[in-house]
Amino acid sequence: MLSLKYPQFNLGFSWIIRLRCGYKYNTTITIKMGRVSEDCPKTCPCCCEGNQSFEHWIFKCDALASFRWNSLNFIDDLYVLFARKIRMLIYLSSYDSMTDFNDYINYYIYLFLLGGTLALNELHFDCGEQRQLNELLFKGLPVPKIVGLAEFLTSAIPIISSSFELLFDKYSKLPNVTKSVDVVLIRYNDNTGSSSISTKGKSQL
Ligand SMILES: [Zn+2]
Repeated sequence: MLSLKYPQFNLGFSWIIRLRCGYKYNTTITIKMGRVSEDCPKTCPCCCEGNQSFEHWIFKCDALASFRWNSLNFIDDLYVLFARKIRMLIYLSSYDSMTDFNDYINYYIYLFLLGGTLALNELHFDCGEQRQLNELLFKGLPVPKIVGLAEFLTSAIPIISSSFELLFDKYSKLPNVTKSVDVVLIRYNDNTGSSSISTKGKSQL
C-alpha cells in the first residue's frame, strides 16, 4: 500500500479515492445545497479564471503551478506519449482548436493518473507501450512518480478548499455570525514551581 509507505501524502491518497468515485467540488453543488446564492461565480476560486474541475487544478491552474512543478514534473513526458498515441487514432482536424485537443489528452492522462486501465484500453495501448509508461512512472526512482499526484493533492487541496470557503462565505445565504473570542491569559510562576491560569471571556455578537 502506497499510503502506508508514504503517510505524509495520506490526504492526497484519500482524495484520489474520492476522485475515482467521481467526487466533484464546485459552486453548482453548493448552490443546490442552498448554502450560496445563484450569482456565486463558477470559475476556479484560486486563479479566478479556469474551470472548477480537478483537470483544471492538476493541469492548468496558475495558482497551483509551484505544486505542479514540484510533484507532477513528469506530466510533460506523459503528454508526449499520450499525444503520439491519440494522433495515431484520430485526426486533429476533428477538434475545433488545439485547446480542445489538449483537454482531450489531459482527460486521458487524468484517468490514467487515477489508476485503472480504462484510459489505456480506450486508447489501445499495447503491452510494449504500457511497459514504457510503467518505466516512465516507476523506473529507478526512490519515490515512484505516480505518488506525485498524491503529493500534489496533499499540497493543493488545502489551497483549493480555503479559496472555496472564502468564495462561499462571500456569497453565503446564511446570516453572518461573529464568533465569540476568548482571551486566555497564562501566568507561570517560576519561583514557586506552580502555574496559574486565568481566563477572561469576551464575546462579540
Ligand atoms: Zn485555477
